[in-house]
Amino acid sequence: MALVRERRQINLRLPELSDCRPRFPLPLPPTSTTTTTSNNSSNISCNDIEKIHVLGHGNGGTVYKVRHKRNSQIYALKVVHGDSDPLVRRQIYREIEILRRTDSPYIVQCHGSYEKPSGDIGIVMEYMELGTLDSILQKYGAFDESKLSHVARQVLHGLSYLHGQKIIHRDIKPSNLLVNKDMEVKIADFGVSKIMQRTLDACNSYVGTCAYMSPERFDPDTYGVNYDGYAGDIWSLGLTLMELYLGHFPFLPPGQRPDWATLMCAICFGDPPSLPEGASEEFRDFIQCCLQKESSKRWTTSQLLSHPFVCKNPISDLVDL
Ligand code: ATP
Ligand code: MG
Repeated sequence: MALVRERRQINLRLPELSDCRPRFPLPLPPTSTTTTTSNNSSNISCNDIEKIHVLGHGNGGTVYKVRHKRNSQIYALKVVHGDSDPLVRRQIYREIEILRRTDSPYIVQCHGSYEKPSGDIGIVMEYMELGTLDSILQKYGAFDESKLSHVARQVLHGLSYLHGQKIIHRDIKPSNLLVNKDMEVKIADFGVSKIMQRTLDACNSYVGTCAYMSPERFDPDTYGVNYDGYAGDIWSLGLTLMELYLGHFPFLPPGQRPDWATLMCAICFGDPPSLPEGASEEFRDFIQCCLQKESSKRWTTSQLLSHPFVCKNPISDLVDL
């Protein structure tokens, strides 16, 4: 389906206010030789790969398509340069730490990481041929419900795994969900994620992209009774699915450039967005379960995985996106 729309050119990142110090052990500081790490036996380092071309630029880093010199296997390499902002460096350390802990078909896999004497830090990841859901939306237009059911199921499996490991992603959005040639959807980008130390750790720092942030992260007193952080990922998933269905960010008309105050007012004081006529009852109900303003009323990953919208049509796992 073709859909032409203006892309939002917005920079919604906010500084991390409460994360002055890392909360978990970081990789060793730079030494005179390159250090490498990985969560599996392949342990690919910078000497094993050659760059093919740039895949994209993110907040402080560049992602390359790379080839393994010996076996020609293709990977994605995320590089943060030695002279980059300390916040960006802290985020990539965090991403490495989390990718080293995770092992799930619904999470993008890390095949190695390294730090050069120059300070450049790299993460070798599995290559996701189709890119992000955001770029797929731009290229092919809005998603229909059966595709969204497929996306929702896979992201929920990924979130269920993460939440089971006490990890909150905190930046679920279309540009952080990657798709491979087998139409598998995987969660990426753990730079602002948080590993919970205790079940009831407070988790209300302003990190991630505020457009997808839940009401309780703006206003924990009003919307965050017994707030444990995990429900914030569910809110972001609900907004993400709506965006993929509508073709634009749900809180704003197409093309509008939001500022932080507009978004905060819309998210905290307005009603949650709802689907237009034409959406099925199941999809509408699923979105409502995700977009409850009061975080304790939002459904969990396991509840949502048994919602009819997600489990009515498992065969859609095989459809083309
Ligand atoms: P942000 O900094 O807000 O997260 P971003 O998600 O676009 O922005 P990166 O995560 O650095 O930034 O990724 C940049 C781009 O590189 C992505 O938009 C995507 O197109 C591409 N990319 C990232 N990881 C992979 C991967 N594993 N396989 C294929 N392409 C990837
Ligand atoms: Mg990203």
